[in-house]
Amino acid sequence: MRYAEVAVDAPVAHSRTFSYSIPPNFNVTPGQLVWVPFGRRTAQGVVVELAAAPQVELTKDILQPIEPAPLVSAAHLDLARWLSRYYLCSLFAAIAPLLPPGFERQVRSRVFPASGDNVDLSGLRPETLEALQKLETASVLTEEELARLLGRNGNRELSRLLHKGLVRRRVELPRPRIAPRYQSYLLAGPAYHVPGASDEKKLSARQQELLGAVRETAAPYPATLANKQFGNGVAEALITKGLLGREWVRIEREYPPPTAWPEVAPQPTLTAEQADAAARITEAMDNRERTPRVFLLHGVTGSGKTEVYLRAIQHAAARGEQAVFMVPEIALTPQTQQRVNARFPGRVAVLHSGLTPGQLFDQWWKIRDGQCDVIVGPRSALFAPTPKLGLIVIDEEHEWTYKQEEAAPLYHARTAAFELSRLTGAPVVLGSATPDVESYYHARRGRYRLLELPRRIAGANSGNGRGLAKVQVCDMRKELREGNRSIFSRELSQALRDCINGGNQAILFLNRRGSAPMVQCRDCGHVATCPRCSVSLAYHATHGRLLCHRCNRLARMPGRCRGCGGKRIRGLGVGTQKVVEEASALLPGIGIERWDADATRAGSSAEDIMGRMQRGETQVLVGTQLVAKGLDLPNVSLVGVILADIGLYLPDFRSGERAFSLLCQVAGRAGRGPTPGRVLVQTYTPDHYAIAAAAAQDYPAMFEREVQSRRELGNPPFSQMAHLVHQDVNATMCQRQAVAMARQLRHRVYAEGLTDVEVVGPAPGVPSRLRGRYRWHLLLRGRNLHRFLEGSAVPKGTTIDMDPAHVL
Ligand code: ADP
Ligand code: ZN
Repeated sequence: MRYAEVAVDAPVAHSRTFSYSIPPNFNVTPGQLVWVPFGRRTAQGVVVELAAAPQVELTKDILQPIEPAPLVSAAHLDLARWLSRYYLCSLFAAIAPLLPPGFERQVRSRVFPASGDNVDLSGLRPETLEALQKLETASVLTEEELARLLGRNGNRELSRLLHKGLVRRRVELPRPRIAPRYQSYLLAGPAYHVPGASDEKKLSARQQELLGAVRETAAPYPATLANKQFGNGVAEALITKGLLGREWVRIEREYPPPTAWPEVAPQPTLTAEQADAAARITEAMDNRERTPRVFLLHGVTGSGKTEVYLRAIQHAAARGEQAVFMVPEIALTPQTQQRVNARFPGRVAVLHSGLTPGQLFDQWWKIRDGQCDVIVGPRSALFAPTPKLGLIVIDEEHEWTYKQEEAAPLYHARTAAFELSRLTGAPVVLGSATPDVESYYHARRGRYRLLELPRRIAGANSGNGRGLAKVQVCDMRKELREGNRSIFSRELSQALRDCINGGNQAILFLNRRGSAPMVQCRDCGHVATCPRCSVSLAYHATHGRLLCHRCNRLARMPGRCRGCGGKRIRGLGVGTQKVVEEASALLPGIGIERWDADATRAGSSAEDIMGRMQRGETQVLVGTQLVAKGLDLPNVSLVGVILADIGLYLPDFRSGERAFSLLCQVAGRAGRGPTPGRVLVQTYTPDHYAIAAAAAQDYPAMFEREVQSRRELGNPPFSQMAHLVHQDVNATMCQRQAVAMARQLRHRVYAEGLTDVEVVGPAPGVPSRLRGRYRWHLLLRGRNLHRFLEGSAVPKGTTIDMDPAHVL
C-alpha cells in the first residue's frame, strides 16, 4: 500500500496533514490537488508528501486527482509549510494562494427523495412534510436549498432525514471552473490519412459531408463548427477511422493587449551610484551562496531606483530566470507597468486585480510554462508559479498593503519573500524613499545590504541640492489667531493662485474623504454614529448622506438630533469634498478633480484621472493617499497638505512613522519637471517630530527618533508582536472571553518561566464595535511568538495576526 500526507481544505490546526491511501489505479505526486473523503463530506486537498506508512491505522482512499499533474512546486510547498507554521493557519489555507486562481473550492452536494415503499413519514413536522413534498416535485435540490425549505434548524433536520434514509445525498466532484481554453481543429490531407483507414464509401452521409467540408477549407477547421453543422460525434468517428486529424491550440486571453504599450524606450546610462547598486545585486544573483541576500535600496523618489530594478531583472532574464516585481497597488502604478513592458516586450505577466478570472488563470499558466521574464503584481505576485525564480523586487517596501489583513494566511509579503529567498537562493531587493524603520534598522546593522541613491536624477541642482522640492510648514494655530477661518492658510491661497496663473498644476492632499468627518448637534453635542460600528458617520455632500467609513453603510442626514431633538445640526472638520468646494470658490473656472475611494467607486479609474492631469484638463487634483502614490507629473509645481495632523495621534506605535512617510511621498509629487517644486504643509502641531522631519525631508532624523522610542518601549524591531482580536456579537461574552484568554496566556508565560513574552491587555478594540461585532484585543510582545502561540489554544472567534501592520 502507498500513502500520501494530504493538507485538507478544512478548518484544522496549522501544519496538520492527514494520511490517505493511494488506490492502485492511479498515481499522485506531491503538489497535486486531489479529492478526499473528510468526515462526512468530500474535500479538496493537496498532496504534501508520499509516505510508506500512515500516521493512523485506518486510512481512507484518495478519491481521485483533480488535476493530472502537480500544480505546486517543491519550493512553494516548503514556503506554504512555513506560512502555515509562522502565521498559524491551516496548511491548505497556506497552499491556496499558490494554486491557479479561480479553482472551485466548493463541492456541490445534491439531495434526492428516497424511493421505495417502506418510507415512514410518521412523526415529522408539518414544515418537513411540506419540504419533502417540494423535493419530490423538484426531484433534485442542492443541500442548501432543502435546508432552507426545512425552516428553522434546517441543517439539523436535514441530517435527521438523511440518517432515517428519507433523503439521499450525492456529492458531485466539480471540475475546476476555469480550465485553460483550448480550441481543437480538424485537419485533412495525406499527413492525417492513416494507412489502412476505413473505406470512405462506407461512411454515413453526414460523415462524408464533414470530410468534404474539411478537405475544401484551406484553413484549419474548428471542431466546434463541425459539431454545430454536422452533429456531435461525427468528427470523433472520422478521427477514429483515421480519416481526419485533430490539433489542440491553446487560446490566450492575452493581457496586456500587445498594442496597448508604448515604443521600447532607450536605456539610459546608469549613474555611478546606480551602476554600483546594480552590480552588487547581480553579483548576489550569480553567487547564491553568499549572504545576506537582502538589499535595501534607499533613495528619494526620482533617484533612479526603478532603473536599478530593471537592470537586475534583465540580468535574471539573461540567466534564464524569472523576477517577481511587487508594487504596493497595481492600479496606481500604470507608469511602472509601462516601463517594464517597454523593457521586456511580450515577456511580462501582470497580475492585476482588474483582470477577469479567465485572464488571471491564463497569466498563471503562462508564468508556469516559463513564458515570462518578469511578473508585476501586488503582494500575491510572490506566489506566482515561477519555474526558476531569480530575483524578488519589492518596490515601496514600507507600504502596509504588503500585509494581508483580511483572510488567512495573514502574511507580510516581505517576510514571506525572505523565506522564499532562503528556499531558492534568489536575492530580494527592497526599495523605498522612506524605508520601514525596521528594514532600515536591519540594513544598518548589516542584516541586509544597504544601497543608497542620495540624489534625484533630474534637477539635481535645484532646491536643497538633492533635487527635492522646498517644503514649508504653515502653522494653522497662527492663522486662526489672526482671524483666518478658511481651510487654506493665506500662504497656500496665494501659492495656489500663483501656481495656476503660472500655467502649472497643483495637488491638494487630505487623508480624509467626504465633506465633514463628523456631524454634531450644536445644542447637546450629540455626534451621529454608525449603529453597527462605534465610529462617527461622515457627511458626504455629493449624495447628501452620512456614510460609515468602516462598513460603508449609508444613512440619511437626520433632520433632528437623536439626543435632544434640536434642529441645529452641523458638520465638523474637513474632508476632500469640502476641499474641492473651497478650492472652487478660491479659483473660479478652474478644472478641479477629486481622487479618493468615493471617486474611484463612482467609476473614475486611475488612468482616466491621470490622463486628464496629463492633458492639462485638470489643474488642481484633490485627493487622499491615492494622489501620494506613484504620480509622475512634470507640470505639478505645488503640493498643499491641508491637514498633516490626521492620523498622527492614532494609538498605534507606527503612526508617527506612517505620517512621515506619507508626507514625504506627497511632497515627492512636486517639482518633478523643469519648474522647481513647492510644498506647503498645514498643521496645528508644527513641532511634532514626524512633521518637522518630513518638512526637512530628513529620514535619518525620523529614524533616530523612532528607534530610540521603540528601544525604550520594547516595540519592533526590538521585539516581535502578535495581535489577538476577539469578536463576538454579545458585548459581555466578548469581554469575558478576552479576559479569560489573557489570563490563560499569562499563566503559561508564568508557568513556563518565559522572561521574553509579555501579554498586554486585553482592552476594547479601536473601534470597539465593527459591523455589529464587539471587539476586544490583546497584544503579545516578545520573541519566537509563533512558537509560544503554537501551544496555546485561543477561543473561537479570535484571529491571530503575527507581526501586525496595525495594532488597533
Ligand atoms: P525612482 O524609482 O527612484 O522614483 P526612476 O528609476 O523612476 O526613479 O527614475 C526617475 C526618472 O529618471 C525616470 O524618468 C527615469 O527614466 C530617469 N532615469 C533613471 N535613471 C536614469 C539615468 N541613469 N539617466 C537618465 N535618466 C534616468
Ligand atoms: Zn459602520
